[in-house]
Amino acid sequence: MDLHETQNLANLTHDLVNCVSVIRGLGQLKEVDTDDAMCHIAERFEGKLRDEYNAQVYAYAKNHCGAFPGVEWLQSFLQDMLTRSQTTAKLQKKDMMSEGQNKAAASSSSQKKKQISLTMATKEEGRNTDTCPLCEDAHSLHECRAFLGMLVKARSTYIRDERRCYACLQQGHRMSEC
Ligand SMILES: [Zn+2]
Ligand SMILES: [Zn+2]
Repeated sequence: MDLHETQNLANLTHDLVNCVSVIRGLGQLKEVDTDDAMCHIAERFEGKLRDEYNAQVYAYAKNHCGAFPGVEWLQSFLQDMLTRSQTTAKLQKKDMMSEGQNKAAASSSSQKKKQISLTMATKEEGRNTDTCPLCEDAHSLHECRAFLGMLVKARSTYIRDERRCYACLQQGHRMSEC
């Protein structure tokens, strides 16, 4: 997550916290706490945040006999993600600073090797997920608009029926083995 995303996440978390506390003050949290509201908020998630959200919702559902988390869960999820991305941003800053200090020694060959194998892994992944199992377009299930547009419950049912892993959406293993 880059700095821009971290800032967005901070704003989003701030909005949600305010929103939840206002609704709670009105004593209407139960009424608003629906799948629809969750989906509405989750629609604003992008990239890594979206993946993480999907994975964590499924993990939650699995641990709660198929029940789905509410907005209070979402609030703590966002706060957790924010803390994480802020930590990462700080570490990246540190990395950049220390890199500048030992410019000469910086580009070690092991680092380069790591980068190459990372690129290869990404390519490999892309190839495997080329055809979407849901709409058969050229994208992974993670990126499928039809899939992401489904209500959380419908998505969960689809994953269960397809015997997919709740965490990575691939077939062939359970989430506990992912
Ligand atoms: Zn698709
Ligand atoms: Zn998996």
